[in-house]
Amino acid sequence: MGLRFYNTLNRRKEPFALGRGKAVSMYVCGPTVYAPAQLGNLRSYVSADILRRWLEHGHGWKVQAVMNVTDIEDKILRDSQAKDLSGVQAFTKPHEERFFADLEGLGVERPGATPHATEHIGGMIKLIERIQENGFAYERDGSVYFDVAKYNERYGYGALQKLELGKDTAKHRIDNDEYGKESVQDFALWKAEPEDAIGWRSPWGHGRPGWHIECSAMAAGELGALPIDLHFGGVDLTFPHHENEIAQTKAATGEDLARFWVHGEHLLVDGKRMGKSEGNMLTLADVAKRGFEPVHLRMLFVQAHYRSKLNFTWESLAGAKESYERLQSFYDRLGEHGGDTAGDAEAATKLITDTQERFAAAMDDDLNTAEAVAAVFDLVRDGNALIDGDELGADQLPAVLEALRGWNDVLGVLTLEAPAAPANVAKLAEEREVTRQRDDFAEADRLRKQIERAGWTVEDTAQGPRLRKR
Ligand SMILES: [Zn+2]
Repeated sequence: MGLRFYNTLNRRKEPFALGRGKAVSMYVCGPTVYAPAQLGNLRSYVSADILRRWLEHGHGWKVQAVMNVTDIEDKILRDSQAKDLSGVQAFTKPHEERFFADLEGLGVERPGATPHATEHIGGMIKLIERIQENGFAYERDGSVYFDVAKYNERYGYGALQKLELGKDTAKHRIDNDEYGKESVQDFALWKAEPEDAIGWRSPWGHGRPGWHIECSAMAAGELGALPIDLHFGGVDLTFPHHENEIAQTKAATGEDLARFWVHGEHLLVDGKRMGKSEGNMLTLADVAKRGFEPVHLRMLFVQAHYRSKLNFTWESLAGAKESYERLQSFYDRLGEHGGDTAGDAEAATKLITDTQERFAAAMDDDLNTAEAVAAVFDLVRDGNALIDGDELGADQLPAVLEALRGWNDVLGVLTLEAPAAPANVAKLAEEREVTRQRDDFAEADRLRKQIERAGWTVEDTAQGPRLRKR
């Protein structure tokens, strides 16, 4: 069947192949850094990460990935109360650091480039000038607006949503706080600001860019040739943000911004959309407070298809944690299993090949991680049965381990190196071993409990005691 993605542009799954370049060019709409990222956004970045990993590990393509960081924007200015640009940056920097730490915790590989909006103001101004030269923008009192009606006449506005202009756009007005524009559907490319406000010099006077223009400028500025291969973003950004990205790029260059538009679905919390007004905005810190680790969340995310709504509950997260532990302990068990028997080579090979085929077919089918993960868990069940029956021997172990590592290159849910226990815990385990050898089981038990209070479990294996994080 080959690799296919659901392309929102054409509302169907379409075969995806490498474009003109040597690498897949991929743009991800990044965060506005003014508050901790909520879980819905984090899900979107995990989905983008899985997509990228599948292109790299499943197909062997290089991926040139860019994710913007919006470090100048209305909410940032409102919340920072900054007087100048360095004040803004002092406010956004910790939020940005926190954001990337969250991604790292979730096993999201950092995109090759993470440009800031404030580093691309020149490119945005050039792009706006071209849009204006081509007749798709007009100036009012130092602000520049995109002329949606004019663009619609020429190219058709609403490529992703197939909007009926006027009817749909009026329903969700694109921006509602600007009076200079001619039509309610027009949006600001450049906003005039008083001389003493934070802003940049431009051909239209002192001001700052609109939000949508930054992605058009950075995608082209960082990735070069248009159209880029892939554009990824949350489904909530489809309108107006992505529609406007498409329109701006087309109006300026006559080119399409991207061949494929891939959208990640919402995360619901207890069946409701996550939102400030709902009071159910959860962050990674909330997850940690309940004793969960980021990898449990990643497991929850990959067990669902990125294009289906996922309902987050604490019970579902606990279920994902159990899944993670089942997979992890199978991996650890393979590492410890001596496999001194000859084993059943044919059974092991078949198990690996069947799983590999199922995994690849599922991932190629619009990144069906739910099915790919199910295939891996079937292997865990059958693999455990083989070990129990002494049918997995030393000759087969490396192949199973390697296959697991290969799937994990894509899913990113295994801890490959067991975390080393801190010195104090290791010392307790040693003391416990000594008391056990003296047959002082009461003392050994006391030490075991002490180890557990420190967040570790000690298991007695044939190779001696082993510490595992609880
Ligand atoms: Zn964007």
